[in-house]
Amino acid sequence: MTKSSCSRTKLYRLTPEGTNCGLSESLVSYLTRLSAAHSVHPITLLKAIAQSTITKDYLLNDIKNGAGRFFQRAKTLNGVGELTLDIINKLSNLTSVDNLERLSLLPWREAIVNKYLFKPSKAWCSQCFSEWKNSKSVLYEPLIWSLKDAVLCPVHMRELTVKCPNPNCTHPISQISATAIIGYCPSCHIFLGSPTKKESKVPLSDWDVWATRTLFNLIALTSSGVHLTVGRNSVKNSFQHLLLLNGGNVTAFAKEINLHRSVVWQYCNGKFLPPLNTILNICFKKEISFIHFLTGNTAHITVTENNSGYFPEYSHKLQQKKISNNIVSIQKKIQMLMNINPPLGLTEVARRLNISSKTIKRHFPNLSEEIKTRFQKYRAIKKQENFARTCNDIKQSVFEITETNAVPYQARVEKYLNRPGILRRPTYNAVWRNAIEELYLDV
Ligand SMILES: [Zn+2]
Ligand SMILES: [Zn+2]
Repeated sequence: MTKSSCSRTKLYRLTPEGTNCGLSESLVSYLTRLSAAHSVHPITLLKAIAQSTITKDYLLNDIKNGAGRFFQRAKTLNGVGELTLDIINKLSNLTSVDNLERLSLLPWREAIVNKYLFKPSKAWCSQCFSEWKNSKSVLYEPLIWSLKDAVLCPVHMRELTVKCPNPNCTHPISQISATAIIGYCPSCHIFLGSPTKKESKVPLSDWDVWATRTLFNLIALTSSGVHLTVGRNSVKNSFQHLLLLNGGNVTAFAKEINLHRSVVWQYCNGKFLPPLNTILNICFKKEISFIHFLTGNTAHITVTENNSGYFPEYSHKLQQKKISNNIVSIQKKIQMLMNINPPLGLTEVARRLNISSKTIKRHFPNLSEEIKTRFQKYRAIKKQENFARTCNDIKQSVFEITETNAVPYQARVEKYLNRPGILRRPTYNAVWRNAIEELYLDV
């Protein structure tokens, strides 16, 4: 940052990261990096901006009373509220950077509400952080990581991390905090990146993959400034249209989309906007394009007969046609993927082929069974190996601690292994006790 660029504006003209794609930076991340560029804590910058912007009494009171409540409200800063609008207007003035509203979901404020929109604490992809650090790229937090329904990294298709990986810390990290530094835990200060892809505990679900991709597309549109008309009645029109397609029976429609009829009635009348999760769920279930629903583009909202949705880009029939025409080549690809070691789960095979796991099950039932069996066997072996390794580590640590003339107490062994709480599990506790007994008997 040169002095000249600073002299024309009150704050550095910091360029947002990841623009024009679904990995666009979030407003919270931008504020955090901007404060670091000015060598102040995010709280100092945010307070200064907020105090000179906000005229609402309750917000000023929050700030005066230690800012805790203010941070509570600021959790939705990446969203569509007035606080976001105020801060973006002020920031645009101070930095002279255009289009800062694209770091939030503000361009969709007529169709999206803050309610249930964000995760309760930060989530991040440790592989993204690691790769950016290794390539000396700027560390930042994409807007998509903060959204509640995006639980995967859209680049690596791995689950986002939600707790500090340091076994002595393991704290969740607030969406916005007084002393945040991008890519580091504010409690223990360790780097949050990790190059290795951990095996997910549970296979990725179709819903998780679909929701992440859909939100990635939404943010890509927002970030590239593609002008879509979102009117005050867009979502209401979509609801009304969908109700008509379902025969106009509110009770039946409500039952089908798993909502109370009075709630559906209010959405159809435009009294309230539904949380984003509700719209996503309806679109997933009914195979409707999420963007068309959000923009009230009713000409494109049709209901398919089969409700097991997956890709919003294709209608169910189109996807079926695509599969039927390529059945032999898809089978070959599946068989190739089955040769990979360690074996892949069905969801990962489906993800790599860009089709749903349900489709694989339907068209290739034998192969899908084989994939499932191999993957389950592999995971069972892995689990057994991990168990054996941990038992061995416990015995070894008891021995090594005793060698230094110290007593291998439970807490001392856990600290030695860097695995707090591990000996609270009955099986490992028994291994620890046996190791001590054996050692004692040997003496
Ligand atoms: Zn990633
Ligand atoms: Zn930590």
